[in-house]
Amino acid sequence: MRIANLSGRLALIVDGRAVDVEEASDGRFAADPQAVYERWEEFRRWAAQARPPEGVPVDPALLGAPAPAPRQIVAAGLNYRDHAAESGFALPDTMPPVFTKFATSITGPVTEVVLPPGGHTDWEIELVVVIGVRAHRVSAETAWDHVAGLTVGQDISERITQLEGPSPQFSLGKSFPGFAPTGPWLVTPDAFDDPDDLGLRCTVNGEEVQKGRTSDLIFSVSELLARLSSVIPLLPGDLVFTGTPAGVGLGRDPQRWLAPGDELVSTIEGIGELRQRFVAQT
Ligand code: ZN
Repeated sequence: MRIANLSGRLALIVDGRAVDVEEASDGRFAADPQAVYERWEEFRRWAAQARPPEGVPVDPALLGAPAPAPRQIVAAGLNYRDHAAESGFALPDTMPPVFTKFATSITGPVTEVVLPPGGHTDWEIELVVVIGVRAHRVSAETAWDHVAGLTVGQDISERITQLEGPSPQFSLGKSFPGFAPTGPWLVTPDAFDDPDDLGLRCTVNGEEVQKGRTSDLIFSVSELLARLSSVIPLLPGDLVFTGTPAGVGLGRDPQRWLAPGDELVSTIEGIGELRQRFVAQT
């Protein structure tokens, strides 16, 4: 199953077309895309037997974030060996470094992003997990039962703010407006042959800069959720950014940063793509 946020309304994607959920359910489920995660199991049961009317074509420019107002956004750093190496950090052993992307940075999949003046703005494609059932102290074996679905995310990062000062400022450097595009929709785990082995790729102006597979995660989705939920309860509708593979601008020689006019396209196999165009601050 795929669900989307089309013009701020929850939509079911059927054969590539969008069906308005509030209308198709006669008001049983609200139009608010964030509200569905509070009733995720009930919604899944309804969607499985629903006979929705034919939908409307999806204009990517009208898509919003599939979970636009989570209570928590949890992001893992250094979760791929090759990226930890290019960043010059040791590999995490029991818990990856964890930070947040503040909620005001969330957007939908097709956007224009203002570059912070004087910054070193970088890309990080990531698989993003959306929580469907509250997860507190869950085991890795049962962790997937708490997942509503998967979406594509970009953990856009301004490296000067992130790394300057006596202690790194991961959360702040990764939370400028528009720095957390997600989408194009949410895909439920059962829709994948293997949700633990998805290809990720991102390009800048058509040139491939990152390519990896989620099977190379140091902490897989289930391990990550188990470890995070040993400390914090993960709530319905929360986002978990799972980390990025190698190929970010910080790790290149010479280093490379996003510039006005650049276009970043981020794709995950079986989900879809994000498309960001960068502009100078005026
Ligand atoms: Zn990241």
